[in-house]
Amino acid sequence: MEQNTKQIRELTKEIRIGDRVIGGSYPILIQSMTNTKTQDVDATVEQILRLEDAGCEIVRCTVPDMEAAKAIGEIKKRIHIPLVADIHFDYRLAIAAMENGADKIRINPGNIGSDERVRAVVEKAKEYHVPIRVGVNSGSLEKKYIEKYNGVTAEGLVESALEKVAMIEQFGYDQLVISIKSSDVMMCVKAHELIADKTPYPLHVGITEAGTIISGNIKSSIGLALILNQGIGNTIRVSLTGDPVEEIRSAKIILKTLGIRKGGAEIVSCPTCGRTQIDLIRLANEAETLVSRYPYDIKVAVMGCVVNGPGEAKEADLGIAGGLGCGVIIKKGEIIRKLPEEELLAGLKEELDNWQA
Ligand code: SF4
Repeated sequence: MEQNTKQIRELTKEIRIGDRVIGGSYPILIQSMTNTKTQDVDATVEQILRLEDAGCEIVRCTVPDMEAAKAIGEIKKRIHIPLVADIHFDYRLAIAAMENGADKIRINPGNIGSDERVRAVVEKAKEYHVPIRVGVNSGSLEKKYIEKYNGVTAEGLVESALEKVAMIEQFGYDQLVISIKSSDVMMCVKAHELIADKTPYPLHVGITEAGTIISGNIKSSIGLALILNQGIGNTIRVSLTGDPVEEIRSAKIILKTLGIRKGGAEIVSCPTCGRTQIDLIRLANEAETLVSRYPYDIKVAVMGCVVNGPGEAKEADLGIAGGLGCGVIIKKGEIIRKLPEEELLAGLKEELDNWQA
């Protein structure tokens, strides 16, 4: 697929979600979804604040009943990022979510019911200027598209999504975001390639039901990289079976690795080998947590030995290389300090605290 990687994303319509805008030349935003009971306001707010702290820019909460819809108003008062209400089946919940301050709603018009019910949701969205994310999912693709394309296919997902978009457009509304989800990574990639030049609306990209931390990260990284690197996608979510905060850490690494987002320290660490004489696995993990708190656009290397470490750390701005019970701090390829093993992390912190960005 030949295209200018920037053009597709930048040609999408600008859509305002709360105080953020996606589409056009606006940056790709990172989303996650809470896994608390939405009606448990304290627990949900606590999780959203942790997500915010990690770098989440839009959060989605499930709204399975009226109590959850009403909780949105209270949650909104205590958080600082736009909130998306996720609704299935009951159009009245979508209306209540908007009345309670949801900044965006996510619906699948196919399971909302009659045209009149979809129209009622759209009219409320117009009144409150709330964008609608139209979602289709490989797990719930309509039978007619499964039959037409002999199974669940990218083509069927795209046709289904565009049909839903047309349904909302016919009611005179165009503040839309589209999401096409599939747990089949390559099907998901193909669906995004197919839909990207067929619609002006921003796309929310994610691999659904990607799995646990390891498989979810791998599948999401491959899928998102293949899609984003073609200039497609305006918001992303890394779906993981785990703490949603992990999704944000992964999303940030994906955007940084693709060169889409600058800023934030990057850690590189060696895989360890027979030469490693310090507890490098622990050190690398602790260093990663430490550097993630700094905004500098720098590379920090954590290497297992003083034989190859300093050389391999040369490309990094800061580095640690371990020895037997001790290690060195490296800055711009030069060894600047030698410290006992237990003081290496503190030494790295000092260098970060004094870093001239
Ligand atoms: Fe082994 Fe040293 Fe290379 Fe790490 S940096 S993999 S310990 S040789």
